[in-house]
Amino acid sequence: MWIRKPSFYDDFHCIAAQCPDSCCKEWDVAVDGEKAALYRSLPGELGDRLRLFLQEDEGETYLTLENGRCPMWRSDGLCRIQAELGEQALCKTCREFPRLTHDYGGFVEFGLELSCPEAARILLSRESWNWVCDGEKPASDDREEETMALLLQTREEAMGLTEAENPIASLLYYGLYVQELLDGGAETGFDPESIPDFPGNGDVEVFLDVFRRLEILTPAWENRLKHPCPRRLQKEDRAMLRYFISRYWLQAISDFDLIARVKFLLSCVLLVCVLGGDALETAQLMSKEIENDAQNVDALLDGAYTLPGLTDANLLALSEMVKNGS
Ligand code: SF4
Repeated sequence: MWIRKPSFYDDFHCIAAQCPDSCCKEWDVAVDGEKAALYRSLPGELGDRLRLFLQEDEGETYLTLENGRCPMWRSDGLCRIQAELGEQALCKTCREFPRLTHDYGGFVEFGLELSCPEAARILLSRESWNWVCDGEKPASDDREEETMALLLQTREEAMGLTEAENPIASLLYYGLYVQELLDGGAETGFDPESIPDFPGNGDVEVFLDVFRRLEILTPAWENRLKHPCPRRLQKEDRAMLRYFISRYWLQAISDFDLIARVKFLLSCVLLVCVLGGDALETAQLMSKEIENDAQNVDALLDGAYTLPGLTDANLLALSEMVKNGS
């Protein structure tokens, strides 16, 4: 099996009590079947408390919140299950977060989630993105594997475009070009120098309305969406583009729809610039609100073709705005 991970993947360590946010807040935690059964069988006060907060919804089991926090959270910032039963008793969600595993059949890629503040600090402080690979690279001998080879190659080129003068416009044009290749178009070559400036004003309010209509988890996010404070694109945003490209580009293998994913990731980075404030803090909150909510991700992927705030023209105009800081 070919295994790929970013060179900094092993740098992550949970900072627990020092965490400025915590994954033990605001989310109902999905509990896998094995651990749900274990928790339900536990004797004593810990078992009683787990049984009280475990709930079923559409066939899934969740550990629901108490006063906005996981009921297993202790005031010292540590997890009661881990403290009393050991790490092996944690459910899969808690054991793995914020580590990501993407299984593409022929190979597996690991990553980190931007919604964890410590992972976000590591991700956004990187000035480049390198993969560490282990095992045998699979051979390309059928259409799907050829498509994956194309996606792997173009993803590396997309990573390079994050250093373009206007990376958001460059990536949108490049995404459109790669989508044509996926649709069977001829390989004509992509010239990043040929990208035109895009004069005109982006409509910030129509753009923000896209996100105001999504599910909102925290009052802090609702407030940020009401009071944007646009700023210029900075190096953390380029690092954020690399994070999104690494995470979503290859997912086009599932339905050959790359451009919806490109517009999704560009919109998320534009949103962080339009909201302003501290880049790292805003990016982490954005990821928590959007990326960690499957309904929100689906709404943005579907809306990439239909929502007025996400037209190519509006994204290009907004990209000029954040490039110039105006
Ligand atoms: S959000 Fe990240 S750093 Fe914070 S408690 Fe969770 S895993 Fe640890």
